[in-house]
Amino acid sequence: MAEERFPALVLEEKEGKVVSELREIGLEDLPEGDTLVAVSHSSLNYKDGMILKGLGRLVRRYPHVGGIDFAGTVISCQSGLFQPGERVILTGWRVGETHWGGYAARARVKGEWLVRLPEGMTPEWAMAIGTAGLTAMLALMALERQGLEPAAGDLLVTGAAGGVGSVAVMLGARLGYRVVASTGRPSEEAYLKGLGAAEILPRQALLDAAAEKKPLLSERFAGAVDTVGGQVLAGLLPQLRYGGAVAACGLAGGAELHTTVIPFLLRGVSLLGIDSVMQPRPVREAAWRRLAELLPPERLAPVISRAKLADLPRLAEEILAGRIRGRVVVEVGG
Ligand code: NDP
Repeated sequence: MAEERFPALVLEEKEGKVVSELREIGLEDLPEGDTLVAVSHSSLNYKDGMILKGLGRLVRRYPHVGGIDFAGTVISCQSGLFQPGERVILTGWRVGETHWGGYAARARVKGEWLVRLPEGMTPEWAMAIGTAGLTAMLALMALERQGLEPAAGDLLVTGAAGGVGSVAVMLGARLGYRVVASTGRPSEEAYLKGLGAAEILPRQALLDAAAEKKPLLSERFAGAVDTVGGQVLAGLLPQLRYGGAVAACGLAGGAELHTTVIPFLLRGVSLLGIDSVMQPRPVREAAWRRLAELLPPERLAPVISRAKLADLPRLAEEILAGRIRGRVVVEVGG
C-alpha cells in the first residue's frame, strides 16, 4: 500500500525568522502519541497568530506544526479511551506549541487530551467555537460560580469583536445578561448588536478611565469578561459594582496591569483568572455541553469566516493586528 501523505502547514526557523510552507508529510513525521486523529477542522486563535509569526517563544523546536485546537475523527487509539470512528475535539495541553497541532490533516496526540464531540455537534461547529469560545464559556462559568446573575446588572465584554469577545457577547446575551460590548472598532457596532449586545462602549472610554488613575469611579458593571488586559482592564476595575467580578482571560492589549487594590478592598471586587489550557477533562466536558446547548450553528453563523491552511500566514498578521472579526474556521482535511 502506498504510504499515506497528507497536507500540513509546516513552520521552520530560517535565519532567525519563522516561515511557513504548505507541504505533504507522512505519518512517520508526526510526534509520538497513543491516538491518531483525522483532523477535519481547526481554527485561528490569537495564540495561533503568535505561533505562526514566531512570537512569545511559545515554540522552541522546529520544524513545527501549529494549530492549538482541532476537531476530527479517531483513526486509532491505544489508550483505550476512544474507538476508531469517534468524533473528538482537542483544545489546550499546549498542543500547537510544544506538541504538533491541528494545521495538518492527521494529528497524533495523547487520548487523555481529547474530549468527545457533544451529541449532535459537528467538527466544523466545534471549531467555530474553538479555544476562544471554550474560554468565553469558562469565563462565564467562573462569573456564575462567583454568584453573578443577570439581575445583578450589566455584563461588560472587552475586545468584543474578537473571537473570545464575540462568543462571550453571544453567551452573555443568551444567558439573559444586558451585555455592554467594548470595542476599538466602531464599524462593528451593527455586528455586535446582532450578536446580542445592548450597548457599545468605545475602547477609548476604558482607556480614558485608566488614564484618570482614580482608584474608584461610578459603579457601572456587575461583571466583566476581559480579553484585552493592560489599560483596558485597569480602566474597568474601578467601575465594577460592589461585589462585582471580572474574568481575566486575555492580553491582546498588554500583559501588564497598573492599578490599585482599592476596588478589591472597598467594593469586594474579584479578579478571576481564566485558563483554558490545563483545565481538567470534566470541566471541559461540562463547558462543551453548555456550548452545544447555548450556541447552535445557526446562532454562530454571523461570527464565522472560513479559511484554508494556505491562508493562515496572512491571517496570522490580521489577528495580531486586531483586524479579525469573530471566529475563523480552518478547513484542514476531508
Ligand atoms: P482576537 O484577536 O480574535 O480578539 C482580540 C480582540 O482584542 C480584538 O478583536 C480587539 O477587539 C481587541 N484588541 C486587539 N488588539 C488590541 C489592543 N492593542 N488594545 C486593545 N484591544 C485590542 O483574539 P482571541 O479572541 O483569539 O483572543 C483574545 C485574547 O484572549 C488573547 O490575548 C488570547 O491570548 C487570550 N486567550 C486566552 C485564553 C486562556 O486560556 N486564558 C484562551 C484563548 C485566548 P475590538 O476590535 O473589539 O476592540
